Amino acid sequence: MAGIKLFESDGHRVFLFEELTPASAVQANQFLIVHNDEAVLLDPGGHKVQSKLFADMSVLIPPQQVRYIFLSHQDPDIVASVNYWLMTTEAQALISKLWTRFLPHFGLDSKLENRLIPIDDGGMKLKLGGDCELLIIPAHFMHSPGNFQVYDPCSKILFSGDLGASLGQDYVFVEDFDAHLKYMEGFHRRYMASGKVMKFWADMVRGLDIDIVAPQHGAMFRGKELVNRFIEWVENLECGVDLLSEKDYTLPG
Ligand code: FE
Repeated sequence: MAGIKLFESDGHRVFLFEELTPASAVQANQFLIVHNDEAVLLDPGGHKVQSKLFADMSVLIPPQQVRYIFLSHQDPDIVASVNYWLMTTEAQALISKLWTRFLPHFGLDSKLENRLIPIDDGGMKLKLGGDCELLIIPAHFMHSPGNFQVYDPCSKILFSGDLGASLGQDYVFVEDFDAHLKYMEGFHRRYMASGKVMKFWADMVRGLDIDIVAPQHGAMFRGKELVNRFIEWVENLECGVDLLSEKDYTLPG
């Protein structure tokens, strides 16, 4: 099966791959945005996923059309396959400038390092296929200190990385927000750094026209009502350092 089509119109297509992770690994979504004859692959994952993703993707586009590999942050379920993707395509890989020098530890060959594009903290715009301009927006400390999300104005999809991640549910699209909370809450309380950044993020993304929020793990939020519920939930969540006290920092035993 070669991906779920999330969007298609006027030479613009977006695909989700959600079933490629092995059972023992945390489920991870991969996304492919195609505009005319150029594509960007988002958070391609690790070694157990790479060749299956390559095969599924090749059904949809010729691999040489992959112009960019976007890496939201440095975790292995995002980045571990970076050497494979730079070997098998002609793409450049984008990642926060905080993490470029960590990639050789994942086996990135020194000859490929010149195909990394370090992203400054403020984010950037990225042109795809001539006339689609993606926004790479800051999401620092959600959860990684150098963390970005992608907003695609052509499909109105916000690729939110670990923000919005859910684990354990058996559906691809959220139907009932309240019933879905139990799959998200524990992860966000522990991994997201603080309510302060969650509020900054909510204020920032309210300036975007979003039809789908697509996290890197678990189910998507589709439609304005669910998207707005999600943003509101993020804005008001207590998480990370907000929940810690000195009793969490005592020596064991
Ligand atoms: Fe992560």
